[in-house]
Amino acid sequence: MSEKIKCLIIGSGPAGFTAAIYASRSNLSPVLYEGMEPGGQLTTTSEIENFPGYPDGVSGFEMMDQLKHQAVRFGTDVRYGVITEVDFSKYPFKLIADEHHEIEAEVVIIATGASANYLGLESEEKLRGHGVSACAVCDGFFYKGKDVAVVGGGDTATEDALYLSHICNKVYLIVRRDELRASKIMQKRVFENPKIHILWNNNVAEVLGDKLGVTGARLKNNKTEEETIINIDGFFLAIGHTPNSQVFKEFIDMDKAGYIITKPGSSHTNIPGVFACGDVQDKDYQQAITAAGSGCKAAMDAERFLLENESSCNS
Ligand code: NDP
Repeated sequence: MSEKIKCLIIGSGPAGFTAAIYASRSNLSPVLYEGMEPGGQLTTTSEIENFPGYPDGVSGFEMMDQLKHQAVRFGTDVRYGVITEVDFSKYPFKLIADEHHEIEAEVVIIATGASANYLGLESEEKLRGHGVSACAVCDGFFYKGKDVAVVGGGDTATEDALYLSHICNKVYLIVRRDELRASKIMQKRVFENPKIHILWNNNVAEVLGDKLGVTGARLKNNKTEEETIINIDGFFLAIGHTPNSQVFKEFIDMDKAGYIITKPGSSHTNIPGVFACGDVQDKDYQQAITAAGSGCKAAMDAERFLLENESSCNS
């Protein structure tokens, strides 16, 4: 027997919990599956200082804990678990949680986020949250007046390097090829910035540091094989994100990178009754505040859908 759920929310970042707060206050009795990383990406950032309403900053973990409490207070059923299968070809929608629990949902809000790509080095993993970060806007401020490095050559890496150049003493941009992928205007800005030092044709072999944080990086030039060590306090990854949309790909329209396509100005996907919000449908902004805003829209869109559906069933 399937469990019948009116409003199913998948994902527990700021988008998912904001959708849950709105949906529960609208009596949609939402059930929220937290996914593999409860709290989402924010729980991996040290301090959030750019979310309005927190003049003294707040830790990512604390903010997500508070959002969760707020959603629970209004009646959201928050569950630790993962949606492992979906079938959006029939209505109500059929989903499977944790590979065995069958669900029938009247509306689904996808808020599964995107995960920052990392290089996959053991040393990088060890120092995550201790000087290794994939969010320059979140963590850059902690490196005021210090030397840092950004890995990547796209728009995000150049934007991050420019952002950090206003805060830090020196910014190394570690690029694996001899050219940047970033747009020409971003390239020009980077080339003209005296604080940014581009290290072409370099791969990171190891991030150096200890319990107290990052102290440097060992690089290998992929043309000359030459190794160099740079002394840095912060190590930023900007090598792209991967949206967590794989499980929906048979049914939901996505772009080439896997970002869910929503109808402009709304959270509607190509399937009526399935909505998407947060980073899984937003490759440009990817901020907690924009995710929260889109979560609110998704809950309101879901409520309208249910109302319209009810009135068409009753007429
Ligand atoms: P991109 O995929 O555009 O760039 C990723 C960069 O990381 C590339 O330079 C790539 O190198 C490099 N890279 C990937 N894997 C590795 C690795 N293992 N080791 C070293 N380097 C690696 O991602 P972005 O996040 O920069 O941008 C994503 C999208 O968002 C783009 O369409 C971009 O234009 C857009 N964007 C727009 C902005 C704006 O308009 N203001 C701001 C930020 C992003 P290589 O080039 O060799 O493949």
